[in-house]
Amino acid sequence: MHKFRTRLLFGLLTLIIAVLIGLGILIGQLFQTYYIDTYKDRIKKEAELTETLVLKEGIDSTNLQPIIETISEQLESNVAIINSEGAIVTEALYGEKSPYYDRTLEQLLGDNRNKKKSFYEIRTEDDLFFYGMPIINDSDEEGFIVLSLPVSSLKLVNQQIWGLLIISLGLALIVILIIGVRITSQYTKPIESATQVAMELAKGNYKARTYENHLDETGMLSQSINILARNLQDMTKAQEMQQDRLQTLIENMGSGLILIDGRGYINLVNRAYKEIFQIDENSYLYKLYYEAFEHEEIIDIVEEIFMTEVGVRRQLMVPLKIERRHFEVYGVPIIGNSDEWKGVVLVFHDITELKKLEQMRKDFVANVSHELKTPITSIKGFSETLLDGAMNERETLTYFLSIILKESDRLQSLIQDLLDLSKIEQQGFELNIEKCDFKEILDEIIMLLEQKAKAKDINLNVDNPYHHVYLQGDPDRLKQIFINLIGNAINYTLEGGQVFVTVKNLDDQVVVTVKDTGIGMKEEEIPRIFERFYRVDKARSRDSGGTGLGLAIVKHLVEAHHADIFVTSHVGEGTTFTITFNKEGKHLLR
Ligand code: ADP
Repeated sequence: MHKFRTRLLFGLLTLIIAVLIGLGILIGQLFQTYYIDTYKDRIKKEAELTETLVLKEGIDSTNLQPIIETISEQLESNVAIINSEGAIVTEALYGEKSPYYDRTLEQLLGDNRNKKKSFYEIRTEDDLFFYGMPIINDSDEEGFIVLSLPVSSLKLVNQQIWGLLIISLGLALIVILIIGVRITSQYTKPIESATQVAMELAKGNYKARTYENHLDETGMLSQSINILARNLQDMTKAQEMQQDRLQTLIENMGSGLILIDGRGYINLVNRAYKEIFQIDENSYLYKLYYEAFEHEEIIDIVEEIFMTEVGVRRQLMVPLKIERRHFEVYGVPIIGNSDEWKGVVLVFHDITELKKLEQMRKDFVANVSHELKTPITSIKGFSETLLDGAMNERETLTYFLSIILKESDRLQSLIQDLLDLSKIEQQGFELNIEKCDFKEILDEIIMLLEQKAKAKDINLNVDNPYHHVYLQGDPDRLKQIFINLIGNAINYTLEGGQVFVTVKNLDDQVVVTVKDTGIGMKEEEIPRIFERFYRVDKARSRDSGGTGLGLAIVKHLVEAHHADIFVTSHVGEGTTFTITFNKEGKHLLR
C-alpha cells in the first residue's frame, strides 16, 4: 500500500524537479542574456565615447596616445585604435598583456574590418571580451576602435546568478517536498486504510473498520466502506444465525434425516439417523445412496421418488443388529424453481414403540377375552349340565354349584384386578398419601394371610422388630402391594415351605423383603413377570386363583410411591422381592 503513496510522491517529485529545472534554466538564461546585453550596451557606449575623443584629436595625432591611455585606465579595458590600412595607430593595455592578444586582434580585424560593422567576440584562449567598432567621420571609415576587457567579471556574475537560482529553487523544492509529503499522506492515508479494510473484507473479516475523520471524498469513501462492512457483518450474522437454527433443528430433531443430491450422492445425515442406524458418518457422506444404504427397501423408496418425482410415505420394518425396528419413512423430491432436480429428502420416524403399544393393546384384548372365556365357558357348561337333569342328583348339584361359585369368584377377582389396573394406569391417578405406620399395615396383612399359609402348612416368619415404622404412603395401596407379594410367596411355595417377611427401618428408607423357599423361576423370566397376564406356571397360577395381573398392579403402585422393586430367584430354591421406600415419599402424585 505504501507503494501507492511512494509512486504518487515520486511522480509529483519528478514533475516538480523537472519544472524547477526548466524554470531555473529559463530564468538563468534570461538573466544571463539581460546582463550580457547591458554589458554589451555599456561597452558600445564606451567605444562611442572613445570614438568621439579620437575624432576630435584626429586619428593620426600624436596627442592621442595619452588620451587613449587615460581612457584605458578609466574603463579598465585594453584600447586599440587601428587606421584604415589596418595598422595599429595607438594601443593602451590595462594590466598584463595576454599571450594571445595580438594574434586575436589581428584575426578579428582580418575577419571584420572590411565588413565596416561593429562586432562582439569572446575569446576564451585569452579570456577577453572584444568589441570592435568602425570610426566613421563624415561617412568615411577612418579606422577601427577595439576595446577588450577580461570576461572574469562576466563569469562571476554568471556563477552568482546560477548559484542564487540553485539555492532558491533547492529551498523551494524542499518546501514543496515537505508540503507534498503532508498533502499526499493526508489524502493517501484514508485511501490506504480503506484499501486495507477492503482487503480484510475480501478475506472474510467483516469486523474490520476504517477511521472516518475526514469530511472530503476520502471521508465518504471510508464511510461507505464502513457501511459496507457493517452490512456484510449483519448479513453474515443473520446468515450464521439462520444456518445455526437450521443446523440445530436438523441435528436435534427426533427423526432421522438424510439429504440426497440430484446425482444420488448423500449430502447430509443428521445425528438422529446416525444414532438410530448406528452408522459412521464417513460411510454415508458423499457416497451414492445405493452403495451406502444396507436396506433394499430404503433404496427402493429413493428410486421410486427419483422415477415418479412424487413424495412417498411408507412403513418399514428394519432389522438393526438384534432388534427389529419399525419406521415410517417419508421421502420427498426437492425440485428447484426452474424445475431442476435438487435431490431427495428422507425422514425416518421411529414408530417401534407405537407398534409395540399397538401390539400390547391387541395382546391385552386377546388375553382379557381368553381369561374371561374360560370361567364363563365353565359356568355355562356346568349350568347346562345341571339343567339337563344333573340338578336332580343332590351330590352332583352341590359339586357343580361349588364349581360355578369358584369360577364366579375367579371372574370377580379378574374383573376387580382389571378395574384396579385400569384405574391405576389412568392419567391423573392419585394416591391418598398420608403418614402411615407400616408396622400396623403389615400386622393386618399377616392376620389376613395367616390362615392361607397355615392351610398349606407354610411357616410365615415376620421380622419387624420396631414399634412403629412411619413412612409417607397410601395405606390401602401399600396393603394391596404386600397382599399380592406375600400371597404369591404362599401360592408359589410348596407345602411345608417357609415365607420370610423382613422390615428394615433405616434413616431415610424402609426396606421390605418378601422371601420364600418356593418353586422359584428362571432368571430370564424375571423381567417378564410384571407384564399383564404373564405367568411362568399357568396351571399353578389358575389353581391358586391368580389372575396374572397381581405383579402388574404391584409394579404400578411401587412406581407411584417412587419406590424400587428388585427380584432375585432360583428355580427350586425360592424367590426374593425387595422393595425400598423413600420415607419422605416426595412427588408421590402420578
Ligand atoms: P398370578 O395372579 O398368576 O400370581 P402375578 O402377576 O401375581 O400373577 O404373578 C405373575 C407370575 O409370576 C405368576 O404367575 C408366577 O408364575 C410368577 N411368580 C410371582 N410370584 C412368584 C413367587 N413368589 N415365586 C415364584 N413365581 C412367582
